[in-house]
Order: sequence, then structure tokens, then C-alpha cells
Amino acid sequence: MFESLSDRLSGVFDRLTKQGALSDEDVKTALREVRVALLEADVSLAVARDFVAAVQDKATGQSVTKSITPGQQVVKIVHDELVSVLTGDSDPGKLKIDNAPAPILMVGLQGSGKTTTTAKLAKRLTERDGKRVLMASLDVNRPAAMEQLEILGRQIGVDTLPIVKGEDPVAIAKRAKTQASLGGYDVYMLDTAGRLHIDQELIAQAAAVRDAVNPRETLLVVDGLTGQDAVNVATEFDDKIGVSGVVLTRMDGDGRGGAALSMRKVTGKPIRFVGLGEKMDAIETFEAERIAGRILG
Ligand code: GDP
Repeated sequence: MFESLSDRLSGVFDRLTKQGALSDEDVKTALREVRVALLEADVSLAVARDFVAAVQDKATGQSVTKSITPGQQVVKIVHDELVSVLTGDSDPGKLKIDNAPAPILMVGLQGSGKTTTTAKLAKRLTERDGKRVLMASLDVNRPAAMEQLEILGRQIGVDTLPIVKGEDPVAIAKRAKTQASLGGYDVYMLDTAGRLHIDQELIAQAAAVRDAVNPRETLLVVDGLTGQDAVNVATEFDDKIGVSGVVLTRMDGDGRGGAALSMRKVTGKPIRFVGLGEKMDAIETFEAERIAGRILG
């Protein structure tokens, strides 16, 4: 499918004369290949350009070590720079859930995997951290979405707030808070409404819920296969609501994960988790090394 960057670069360097240090010309030639590889991995053009410029500064003049080829050496510099940009949080999987009951707000567009991710994280908090979790759907316009969370809750053995028809999202969020306090829950997770596109009402609703519960974490769920769109969505949500981290879903798909790099460069927000399938266990803590390897191919 894709030619890996290592393969591309060894081809390039085979054609160059061997020297004691990486020359400007060697590095430039290699970095053209790096740029193409990044674009193929769905990294945005502006981000790819900036990234390559940063690598160029680091690579020029580095002495060529005997143990590795110049191609491998540039790959290593690129890899290290990728890891450095992708790393946003020293412990991305650790949710701030002290002071029970801790509210976690889940936001994102419809179809991004928000409800699935809410349940996956609830299961993880329950099983790995021994927490008591209550989940509540605030999607009053889509009864099917509320039922979906209830079904997932039953499947994973996590409680959901009983559905009361006619309540608005803020009222549901407050009821979840009360129920979580009275019921001795450690965490309550609020699955906000999703829309196909960001609109004023969606943002106003999420902001009202945020103000009502003061979440410890606001996690934005975005489809990792949507590339630049994912980054635009993140920028908008962060500007309007403020997010504490991003969950990239569908990273089990064919994509090369370039959205992760664009996301970090453009929004500066830490990527906290990646979704790797439809099953309730298919979620992992974000690891910069793994995504860097995948982008490089
Ligand atoms: P929501 O509208 O944002 O709440 O999206 P859902 O949680 O209902 O998810 C939409 C679809 O995407 C469902 O069929 C999920 O099973 C699927 N899905 C969610 N996360 C992932 C993932 O990480 N990988 C894959 N392959 N599918 C996912």
C-alpha cells in the first residue's frame, strides 16, 4: 500500500555520496521524501511543512555514525521529532477523578464514537481503577442515543441514570450529580448531544452543562480518520468550551494516523486515548511512540 519512509530514504541515500556528515543537500533530498510521507499519512500541508523545517534544523551538520546509514539516521531524527511533538501529557491515561463524585464531560460530533467511548472509559475506570461510575446521556433530541448508552451500560455492568422524558440537558446533568453524590459514585460521565456539524445550539448546550457541573475532565471525541476535519472540530470545541484532552477513534482503520500530529501541532491539546474498534475493550492510552511508528510506516 504505502512505501515506508525508511525504504524511501534508503533509496535516496544510496544515490548520494558517502560523507562524514549529513550535508545540506542530503538532508534536503531526504526531507522532500519525509514531507511526501507525512502528506500520505494525512498530515495537513502546513503542519508537514513546519515539521520538516524543524527536522531540517536538527539534521543538518549531524555527523554520520558508523553503525547506521544516513537514511536510518534521518529516520531516527524524524521519529524523535514526531514523538516530541506528539507527546502532550506525561500520563495521558490518568483521568483527574479525585474528589468524588468527579464529573467527566464527553463532547464531540454525532458519529465520532462519543457514546461508545463513554462506555469504554466507564468500563476501564470500573475494572482497572475499581471506581464506581454513573453514566448519563444528555442527548434529549435523540432518544435512540439515550437508549444506546443504557444498553451499553447493561452490557458492561455500569449504571446509567434513569431516563426521564422532557428534561433538558442541564437538568439531567444536575440530576446525575445529585444521584452520584447520594449513590456514592466516584465518577459521573455526561455524554452530551452530538450533531453532524458544530452549531451554536450544540455549543451553547455543552457550555451550559459545563457551567452547571464544572467538569474535572472535558474529553473531546473525534474520528481519527477524518484528518483535517478532526483538527478543525477540535479547534472549535476548544475555543468555545475548553477541552482537557482528545480521544481519537477509529485508529484501527487504514489511516496512517497523521491526524494525531496535526491535532497536536494545531490545537496543542494532549491526545489521551485512542479507540481501536467497536468492542468495549478496544481503547488504549495514547502512546506517542506507537503513532510515530505508524506515521513513518
Ligand atoms: P456517537 O454518535 O458519537 O455517540 O457515535 P457512536 O458511539 O454511536 O459510534 C458510532 C459508530 O462508530 C458505532 O458503530 C461504533 O461502534 C463505532 N465506533 C466507535 N469507536 C470506534 C473505533 O474506535 N473503531 C471503530 N472501528 N469503530 C468505532
